[in-house]
Amino acid sequence: MSLQRRPLFAGNWKMNGLRATAIPLADELASKIRNASPVPFDMLICPPATLIGAINGVVADTDLAVGGQDCHTAASGAHTGDISAEMLKDLGCTYLIVGHSERRADHAEEDVMVKSKAEAALAAGLVAIVCVGETEAQRDKGIALDVVSSQIRGCIPDGATAEKIVIAYEPVWAIGTGQTPTNDEVQEVHAMMRKILGEKIGVGEADKTRLIYGGSVKPSNASELMVLSDVDGALVGGASLSHVDFWAIALSYPH
Ligand code: PGA
Repeated sequence: MSLQRRPLFAGNWKMNGLRATAIPLADELASKIRNASPVPFDMLICPPATLIGAINGVVADTDLAVGGQDCHTAASGAHTGDISAEMLKDLGCTYLIVGHSERRADHAEEDVMVKSKAEAALAAGLVAIVCVGETEAQRDKGIALDVVSSQIRGCIPDGATAEKIVIAYEPVWAIGTGQTPTNDEVQEVHAMMRKILGEKIGVGEADKTRLIYGGSVKPSNASELMVLSDVDGALVGGASLSHVDFWAIALSYPH
């Protein structure tokens, strides 16, 4: 937590949701945020692309932001089945997740591609949420910090500023497993990320950039993570599919 950075709670719905349940879920969150307004945090949901148009209809005029989960590196063209950052912006999105470990694993995305996607997000006027994180084998080998620092160096888009990017530290072994690093381990990685970011974009911008943690965040562990000095919110997968749990996680931020 830090007074100079507004926390961000981002819900990554992954490949979950059909209209019948997803629209009421977005509607519940929109009501919560409307009733609690003004809230001391930013809240974002990233539904599957198929739902974004309908959900933006429901949450328009509230402070609940909507984002995409991935994009093509190009703005348009002959890329069957892909969607561009510009198209997501056109649907009303304001954020875009890039480099999620499931994209890296399922679609062999590497840092160079993640950087290009982040640049596509910035070019479209979206905030890029750049995901990094080590595997279990890398942590066991004692190279977690090296892996994350090289991902940061490789993925930060040209032109990045504190307003245009968010970095999400998501240890791959903590995603969807119920396991989390210790608080000291999370703080150690986040402090290192801010230092490397400072070398890339300047210390002043790095100090203002939000670094969020993801990987099995739940109402029961959120408050202890959110007090860490370099943790500025959370990227939440499974628990963001419950409006009760996601809201409880956001309220756990000390304010
Ligand atoms: P999880 O997923 O909260 O279900 O662990 C986090 C993520 O993949 O963003």
